[in-house]
Amino acid sequence: TKLSLSTLKDASAKAAIPAYTRDSLTAGIVHFGVGNFHRAHQAIYLHELFNLGKDLDFAIIGAGVLPSDAKMKEKLAAQDYLTTVVEQDVAKSAATVTGPMVDMIAAPDFAGMIAKLADPAIRIVSMTITEGGYFIDPATGHFDPKHPAIVADAANPDQPKTVFGLIIAGLKARRAANIPPFTVMCCDNIPGNGEVTEATIIGLAKLSDPDFAEWIHHHVAFPNSMVDRITPATGPREIDMTRDAYGIDDAWPVFCEEFKQWVLEDKFPLGRPAFEEVGVTFVEDVAPYELMKLRILNGGHAAIAYPAALMDIHFVHEAMENPLIRAFLAKLTHDEIIPVVPPVPNTSLQDYATLIESRFSNPKIGDTIPRLAQDGSNRQPKFILPSTADRLAKGLDVVGLALVSALWCRYFEGNSDSGKAIVFNDASAERLQKTAIASQQDPLLFLALDDIFGSVGQNDRFRQRFSKALQHLRTHGTAKTLQSYIDGSL
Ligand code: NAD
Repeated sequence: TKLSLSTLKDASAKAAIPAYTRDSLTAGIVHFGVGNFHRAHQAIYLHELFNLGKDLDFAIIGAGVLPSDAKMKEKLAAQDYLTTVVEQDVAKSAATVTGPMVDMIAAPDFAGMIAKLADPAIRIVSMTITEGGYFIDPATGHFDPKHPAIVADAANPDQPKTVFGLIIAGLKARRAANIPPFTVMCCDNIPGNGEVTEATIIGLAKLSDPDFAEWIHHHVAFPNSMVDRITPATGPREIDMTRDAYGIDDAWPVFCEEFKQWVLEDKFPLGRPAFEEVGVTFVEDVAPYELMKLRILNGGHAAIAYPAALMDIHFVHEAMENPLIRAFLAKLTHDEIIPVVPPVPNTSLQDYATLIESRFSNPKIGDTIPRLAQDGSNRQPKFILPSTADRLAKGLDVVGLALVSALWCRYFEGNSDSGKAIVFNDASAERLQKTAIASQQDPLLFLALDDIFGSVGQNDRFRQRFSKALQHLRTHGTAKTLQSYIDGSL
């Protein structure tokens, strides 16, 4: 049956459906980036809360600023903004039709977005727009005022097209109408994600109205958060499985693991949903949780993606079934990453790493190596290089971490060990590939990519380790190189 509000009863034969009605909901949140992760995470916490009959005035209005988001809106609108979320765990699978989203505004209706942001009912503006969506120069970690999209928004603050320009315009309209500002809640995987979001918004506001930038700094809350749930992209496989196993014709279902986690700072001046009732942890300082997750989980993903790609492995669980990749990840995590992760309240880092290993090994979730390998130009500097920098600063060795960087470089030569062509999905792919190929003459050319490696690329110990690992990869291939690292002979 084609998914819609009027066919929910049919869907309930094989899936859970909302305990709340659409009519009982009113919007309280605008969310930018209605991708898969949002629909498996924040939207699920809200769905569970609404099922308890609570905070029904915090429903979601989706917003999308990219041209491709108009397609998303079309698909979602055709099914009344319902999403089937399928949890795939080793022991069981379960489908839930979720309905916390009540509308969506997509490009090019930017005026509609600003009007909605100015609506006093909206108390939270949240976002999952990918790590690369924040106009931050990866090497310096600072806002990049020269990006063409930023230059355009700064020149036309009344007709913005970026998420940040829209938020500024919305805040301005609220101030003009004496409506207090909403909370801005970033849910992307970025260290200090609230602070980064604030820096981008204030950086952009300063370019056209420095006084207003100052006002934002004093009046708008930007809670930091740690978000976690492995959520692969949706393809024909997922659409077919939703139809075949659950009898639901959903144009854009979401598959994810059963595990989910959200650690959040409690800074919501206009109030917030009672998320603590559905398992969200509120803390004073998210930083230790975030660092643990970014370095062990996201770092782990960023470490196994490239050796797996070079060995023609497609699924993440298949990578974990490969004894060399599994041992490489374990040694890297325990010998190099965990020792520079600061302690986390009430948490054993060893147990956390064991949990991550079993989550990566989940054979049912269908997460793919191409998804993990994409966007490395934004991910390596956030997930891998900070561990490298911390170890170097302490005078510690970086054999495994330098090998991760070397694997990434080798990947950008463009062919796997068996000679298969690699398809890249990275905004900087062209430049990376050119540099990776040039580095066959001199490995240090790759580390001279300053915007990515920063000062780590200038460190002698790192340069030595990287060059040796890269040489080894090129001469002996990925499997033998991983083996040498595991033996301690690399
Ligand atoms: P997705 O591709 O399904 O969705 C990405 C969304 O972001 C889309 O709606 C897209 O339109 C929007 N977007 C992309 N670039 C943008 C830009 N420059 N400006 C504005 N909007 C932009 O991806 P996803 O799986 O939903 O992941 C999105 C982000 O969520 C990740 O980058 C990560 O930071 C976070 N996250 C994802 C997972 C996961 O397992 N998928 C887990 C934890 C956190």
